[in-house]
Amino acid sequence: MKTFRCGDVVPGCLREFVGRDREDVLAQVGEHARRDHGLQPDEDLVRAVEERLRDA
Ligand SMILES: [Zn+2]
Repeated sequence: MKTFRCGDVVPGCLREFVGRDREDVLAQVGEHARRDHGLQPDEDLVRAVEERLRDA
């Protein structure tokens, strides 16, 4: 399992994500970024998320 804390990239955001693998977390984060932050997930965002994934 992998976890990611959105606040590590977007200061102040309290959302945390848990997924079975990298792709699962990235899909959830991509949707959250679009819906809650108005961000279009691009290469930089994906890289920022990948660098901060933790094993759970
Ligand atoms: Zn967020």
